[in-house]
Amino acid sequence: MKYYILFGPPGAGKGTQATSLRENYHLCHLSTGELLRGEIAAGTPLGLEAKALIDAGNLVPDAVVEGMIESKFNTVKDVEGFLLDGFPRTTAQAEALEGMLQRRGEKVTGVISIMIPDAMIKDRIRHRATIEGRADDAKDEVIEKRIATYHAKTEPLIDFYKARGQYHEVDGTGTIPEVAARLAALMAKLS
Ligand code: ADP
Repeated sequence: MKYYILFGPPGAGKGTQATSLRENYHLCHLSTGELLRGEIAAGTPLGLEAKALIDAGNLVPDAVVEGMIESKFNTVKDVEGFLLDGFPRTTAQAEALEGMLQRRGEKVTGVISIMIPDAMIKDRIRHRATIEGRADDAKDEVIEKRIATYHAKTEPLIDFYKARGQYHEVDGTGTIPEVAARLAALMAKLS
């Protein structure tokens, strides 16, 4: 099985690019953000807990997302691999993922990082707010908090995966097809 990690700041275009990657490489796209929004929409206790944290621009507890991912690894069949989007987001989650994969005799195939500058993050999220209506995209202070959370907790993963020789970066600026072409070139090298 292939285990790709789609990495990048909020608004980098991970979800957008994930759709074509999933289809072209027969992957199961696992977005922790989408899974959490599903829990919120279904009104589960987990969703209620997550909503308050997400709407404030904070992360949900590591154990919550780790459990969601592992249960998908255990149940999803008939794919050639997984495309992890929004996970791992902390060093603790990256270590938990390593443990999960080791127990299965597997490892991360590659981290695919889509990079855009901070100034573009805000523009992209403001634009998405007009289309998707996500509560966490609506307020400037929440967007700022998410960018700060990304720099403090998620960005350290770049060095974590560089140290393992698993980190690969593409330029996330430009049009959707331009970024898709850069990703396709990188995937050709990884698979
Ligand atoms: P974006 O990439 O635009 O920030 P996501 O849909 O990936 O959006 O995530 C939305 C929110 O869900 C995050 O701001 C965070 O609160 C929560 N979340 C998603 N994935 C994780 C994770 N791996 N660990 C903790 N919280 C998460």
